[in-house]
Amino acid sequence: MRLYLVFFFALSVNLVAHSAEPTAFSSFSVQPQTLVNGSVCLFTVRVVGHPQSVTARWLGHDVTFSQSSGDSWFALAGVPYDTKPGSFALDLEAAMPKGGTLHESRQIAVHPARYKTSRLTVPQKYVTPDAESLKRIESENQIKHEVFAHFLPAPQWTGDFITPVPTQVSETYGTSRTLNGKLATVHRGVDFRAPSGTPVHASNAGEVILARDFYYEGNCIVIDHGLGFMTMYMHLSKLEVKEGDHVDKDQTIALSGGTGRVTGPHLHMAVRWSGEYLDPLKLLALNLSRFGGVSGAGASRRNPELAVRARDLFNLSRFGGASAAGTSRKKTARSE
Ligand SMILES: [Zn+2]
Repeated sequence: MRLYLVFFFALSVNLVAHSAEPTAFSSFSVQPQTLVNGSVCLFTVRVVGHPQSVTARWLGHDVTFSQSSGDSWFALAGVPYDTKPGSFALDLEAAMPKGGTLHESRQIAVHPARYKTSRLTVPQKYVTPDAESLKRIESENQIKHEVFAHFLPAPQWTGDFITPVPTQVSETYGTSRTLNGKLATVHRGVDFRAPSGTPVHASNAGEVILARDFYYEGNCIVIDHGLGFMTMYMHLSKLEVKEGDHVDKDQTIALSGGTGRVTGPHLHMAVRWSGEYLDPLKLLALNLSRFGGVSGAGASRRNPELAVRARDLFNLSRFGGASAAGTSRKKTARSE
């Protein structure tokens, strides 16, 4: 509560400081209310004067806003995993039609997330790959580098992102893990329980920019949702789409499996924004029903059951102290 008040006070000071000059920015909001490292967030702001573009700098990344309705602009963004707690500036900029730009800065608090630790055992070749595998990994890193540079200049998604499978989470994002007692990694996605052959749905509309077999990821799909936002689906047994395809929200894109670095079949989902891996459950929990690229399209395809499920999962992961610990023990059998 105290932190919230401080935050509120900081905002008020900011508004007062700018009240002497005509300000084009108003009704600024952030969803969710509390940001932590790993968060996915939605910024919204009203800008009068019909700007040609609204952009921002945030935690070292460029953010491009899209117009929703009237003077309202929105942008999906996030807080990188490595961000230390503190107050950070969102520097907004609007390019006005008659030339010139308007600036405004908002201070936003980032709190520390409490992520877990765990140990698990995978086949040794995934911890100490041989020379031939290292060559393969190197070439796959090059492909990923090129794929991740893909950029679509407008949002392809519409409304809420949905869970790709209607099952429980077996491993949350952010867990610090030790593989085979040796290799330290951070789990930069979320695992869903899924027996091999479970249909995997596109979390939202976008373009398939990768659909192939990789050493660690196994059969892997990357969907570009526009403006640097991507979702990834790993360890699949069968791909149902190919690179270059446009997919709708909820479309079956693959069957789940246990390919790549796993200890058993499951679905690993990752969310990438501007080169950072964010918490997929925090994306699924956002209420984006009034937002998106192609207005209306895709919204009707939304599967209400899956959307509700996403909120349940999110609530579980946030509040389930005992149950989360229980899940984490079970999941060591099938993770990565
Ligand atoms: Zn995983």
